[in-house]
Amino acid sequence: MQRFLISETAKHVGEKVKVAGWVSARRVHGKIIFIDLRDRSGFLQCVFVPSNKVAYDASQEVRTEWVVELVGQIVKRPENMVNNKIETGKVEMSVEELHILSKAETLPFAVDTDGMEINEEIRMKYRYLDLRRDRLRNNLIVRHKVVKFIRDFLSAEDFIEIETPMLTKSTPEGSRDFVVPSRLQPGKFYALPQSPQQYKQLLMIAGLEKYFQLAKCLRDEDLRGDRQAEHTQIDIEMSFIEMEDFIELYERLLISLVQTLFPEKKIQQIPFPRLNYKEAMEKYGNDKPDLRKDLSMQAGKKDPNILAFCWVVDFPFFEKDDDGKWTFTHNPFSAPKPEFMQDLMDKKNISNILTSQYDIILNGWEIGGGSIRNNTPESIEKVFEIMGYEKEEIKEKFGHMMEAYSFGAPPHGGIGSGIDRIVALLLNEPNIREVIAFPKTGDGRDLMMQAPSEIYPKQLKELHIKIDDKKEKVVVKKPKKKIKKNNTYGKK
Ligand code: ASP
Repeated sequence: MQRFLISETAKHVGEKVKVAGWVSARRVHGKIIFIDLRDRSGFLQCVFVPSNKVAYDASQEVRTEWVVELVGQIVKRPENMVNNKIETGKVEMSVEELHILSKAETLPFAVDTDGMEINEEIRMKYRYLDLRRDRLRNNLIVRHKVVKFIRDFLSAEDFIEIETPMLTKSTPEGSRDFVVPSRLQPGKFYALPQSPQQYKQLLMIAGLEKYFQLAKCLRDEDLRGDRQAEHTQIDIEMSFIEMEDFIELYERLLISLVQTLFPEKKIQQIPFPRLNYKEAMEKYGNDKPDLRKDLSMQAGKKDPNILAFCWVVDFPFFEKDDDGKWTFTHNPFSAPKPEFMQDLMDKKNISNILTSQYDIILNGWEIGGGSIRNNTPESIEKVFEIMGYEKEEIKEKFGHMMEAYSFGAPPHGGIGSGIDRIVALLLNEPNIREVIAFPKTGDGRDLMMQAPSEIYPKQLKELHIKIDDKKEKVVVKKPKKKIKKNNTYGKK
């Protein structure tokens, strides 16, 4: 007999069907036993009566979260028993057979609530149980829909998805690299990508013209509220465009995403308003303003269905770092705005040079950032010279990029936009951990897998690594206030 999903059962009144799932609740009313069965599609009330002795007796033993298979007839519920809150609230199963597929110990917490009342560390330790709750399952389903929408949208626009390596060389995105020791090249290390930045630019030089990827970005950040060591970004790059072309494309994507998947939401202003960095700082005191109009009117009560997008542009290209040296504010591969190209080439008026960077903001969260890139080896070199790199160092670190740009590079630009943040905002979730299947703690621990963990001495030996016994405790210093260092999820 074929298994039906619970959501399909309402269409089969009068028929005998088989369903399977978890026992969400078990209630005894006089002589009748009720089981609420849960599968990934919903809940079904299942009724056991004494006249059906075998199944009835078997149901006495069953406890919550056991996995069972039930066979029985789908019947209409009596009028006074209808539950309009669930899809299958008009029907129930009159159970004829019960098979126990797997028993369950008592769970460490309830999974029939939204989970917000439970300590997050415990939720993370038992994430596979936490994900049984409706809210989180729904979050993952919506996340899938958002990702699929973006993939379909960009594919229809003629973009192709290309995977880029995880084991690579450091690309400066303003954060610290995670490194991986190489066994075959003793003493050498790969860096995990902070973003696919260099690869996507190289794909433009390769002539692919329209690239995207749902890319994992790994940044060894210091402990900070809503950050994750790894996040996923929708990473796009395209050739033969100017900033306006890119903004038009990404804005169209976001509008269409909201209108298709979240029709209940209202985008406050289309086209999205644009602010320049200076204006944003003067008017709102930050570069990711929350422009929802009704905010001031109903202080503390935010309308969950208003989406206030805006673009922030005209950022300074450079800022001084803690040692008084020039560093990039967002991305060293960005081009200056065209009117500042000469200043960059002459290394003049550095503090005035504006970058072609554009950030996209939603309800006060930065959900992405990108730019038009420098596409000549000379202009790339100037950026690193301004930052005080010696010729040799530029060659060693970015020689491959400058060489690539000497072989004919189209004008190009793109974006990196955080899927976790977009989905959390669209679902009105308070933080990105609620929309990530297996998130880590703020200090980068996976409490379920117990990672990071020590490795065997044999593994260390193979990698030619010795651990310093005097493991120092990492002291996290509060960073100095800066404009920002890099884009999505980077240091700010
Ligand atoms: N590499 C940037 C980031 O990761 C995105 C970009 O400039 O395209 O945020």
